[in-house]
Amino acid sequence: MNMQLLENILTAYGPSGHEGRVADTIREALKGHVDEMYTDVMGSLIAVKKGDGTGRRIMTSAHMDHIGLAVVDADKHGFLRVCNVGGIRAAKMVSGHVVFENGVHGVVGADEKVKGDLQVSDLYIDIGAETKEEALSMVSLGDMCVMAPRMTKLGENRIASPAMDDRIACYVQVQAVLELPENIKNDVYAVFSVQEEVGLRGAMTAAYHVNPDMGIAVDVTGVGDVPKVATKVPVALGRGAAIKIMDRSLLCTPGVVAMMETLAEENGIAYQREVLPYGGTDAGAIQKTRTGVAAGAISIPCRFIHSEAETVDKRDVQACIDLLKACLTA
Ligand SMILES: [Zn+2]
Repeated sequence: MNMQLLENILTAYGPSGHEGRVADTIREALKGHVDEMYTDVMGSLIAVKKGDGTGRRIMTSAHMDHIGLAVVDADKHGFLRVCNVGGIRAAKMVSGHVVFENGVHGVVGADEKVKGDLQVSDLYIDIGAETKEEALSMVSLGDMCVMAPRMTKLGENRIASPAMDDRIACYVQVQAVLELPENIKNDVYAVFSVQEEVGLRGAMTAAYHVNPDMGIAVDVTGVGDVPKVATKVPVALGRGAAIKIMDRSLLCTPGVVAMMETLAEENGIAYQREVLPYGGTDAGAIQKTRTGVAAGAISIPCRFIHSEAETVDKRDVQACIDLLKACLTA
């Protein structure tokens, strides 16, 4: 694995709607390796590798955006109040370290509660300001912060980082495109989408533009291999690429699932079936564009999703790269 490229992609600032720095990092990595590269109105980066005209048009999509918090108020002591941008779980943010686009850092506190679950509205951010005026001279209303970047190696094969959702998939897509052979039949549109975390918005407009014959999302998925899981899911770390059957955004097209399973078998790629009773991914938007598109997803198993401890296994990441390449060249 290209750990430096991975770290660059993981640590680029990019909450939903502000993915420009992530796009810059990916553009740099793909420069000279694709036939065309452009950014659409929404901000999604689209990298095109042309086939020989005998294949299909395939769109893959990995989202660049990361969940964050937007400033809604500052109190007289300089503490910021925030709202969520994407699926933030308040309890997972407490005592965390966050950073704004302009480099202002903060730490997260929470109102003490006697009962009830902690809400995002119970959180406050200490950016070192002592008054409301000082706080609002450091950040503006609507500015967004994300969990501060960090990449940690765990043992031989595992990596933990905030933004693993979904930068690890951006990395998978970049590597797959870089490793494609010179002459392929299919036209490959590798989309690095925006605003997935707030409702698959970038993939929706990109899919309309690309008008693909088949869509493949690459995203992380939840695992059931940690103690006391609330919702039972079959996926585990280290068992290979997860081939999605369903989540709350789509029921994968059976032919796409079958194709992925056959390609994994033929190429000796470790894989597992993913049945996710929650969540969604870009494939849900691609499938419903225009008059409908055959769609599926390759998922990277990930522990502690939507926390700063998002953890993946390098062997699964490699399996996902290999399976994506196999799909794009089939
Ligand atoms: Zn995701």
